Amino acid sequence: MTKVYNFCAGPAMLPEAVMQQAQNEFINWQNQGCSVMEMSHRSKEFIALAEAAEQDLRDLLSIPDNYKVLFTHGGGRGQFSAVPLNLSQEGDSADYIVSGSWSKSAVEEAQKYINVNVAATTTSEDGLVVMPVQDSWNQNPDAAYVHYCPNETVDGVEINWIPVTGDIPLVADMSSNILSQPIDVSKFGVIYAGAQKNIGPSGLSVVIVREDLLDKARSITPAIFDYTVIAKHDSMYNTPPTFAWYLAGLVFKWLKEQGGVAAMAERNKAKSDLLYSCIDELDFYSNNVAPEYRSRMNVTFHLKNAELDKQFLAEAENAGLKALKGHRIVGGMRASIYNAMPIEGVQTLVNFMQDFAKRNG
Ligand code: PMP
Repeated sequence: MTKVYNFCAGPAMLPEAVMQQAQNEFINWQNQGCSVMEMSHRSKEFIALAEAAEQDLRDLLSIPDNYKVLFTHGGGRGQFSAVPLNLSQEGDSADYIVSGSWSKSAVEEAQKYINVNVAATTTSEDGLVVMPVQDSWNQNPDAAYVHYCPNETVDGVEINWIPVTGDIPLVADMSSNILSQPIDVSKFGVIYAGAQKNIGPSGLSVVIVREDLLDKARSITPAIFDYTVIAKHDSMYNTPPTFAWYLAGLVFKWLKEQGGVAAMAERNKAKSDLLYSCIDELDFYSNNVAPEYRSRMNVTFHLKNAELDKQFLAEAENAGLKALKGHRIVGGMRASIYNAMPIEGVQTLVNFMQDFAKRNG
């Protein structure tokens, strides 16, 4: 059988070694005679698993002690509402930076709760997407927080510098780039991520919140979205997504074995450089993001002749290269190359793209 490489944006491929381990212990976890997914979240075995996963994540991202780590529900979009509910009161304003479709969706959800000031949006310079420098942003000095999305999964745009917001909490939607490189957590008030790209399976979201931002939720906040309630109950106020939490724990251990996020950053750079070089070298393909804002996780590209899109996708699928279709909003192609994608997968894609261009150029 042809080796399959899955470029899906999410739920995305998971490390093969992790999947093997999960399979081996699927119906008899730690000699319990049952699956981890059949055990109480309050059992001492599951609590030990949960604590180890949190500690591993703390180690991987060097999360300072004055931050809580929450393992929770509702995906990335759940946090689009949880953020305003936890960090503002009715009538407040918040600054949102719009760099693509997910930060735009975050704005639309937040507008139900708060006055949104879009302080900056990406623009086009010589046909390439760029983020204007922060000096030119229209920031509100009284904003309750500043929200941005450092990696836009659909648009393939990554902001690789951290906005400076002084005393105003900075909130980041890291759904598609968490754990892809070291980050200075202390620069953020809240970091959140849906799990289904770089953490584990869908159904789990991780929130990292600075402790001084707790105890501020609006009274109408659903308890399962209230950071303070979740923190007080060690993420077990209601039944957590236990199997996803378990798998995330295996991914964290795998990441540590691989050399942690610094090693991931090197690999992710090598993988994305390889793919962007192929796109740039062949006139057959194009990418519309300025090089310094190109995503290392979601590489978007178009065939110059869009009439060949269908054929490209069909032949790619036959060659074992799965899920390369771009998001319907932007069209074209997208290769999502998160931590679990080995460089061999990217090399196989590049070989295919070169061959396809030669045959159809
Ligand atoms: N933010 C980003 C950056 C995403 O990529 C996604 C999902 N692709 C979301 C938010 C929404 O996540 P969910 O589907 O888990 O609600």
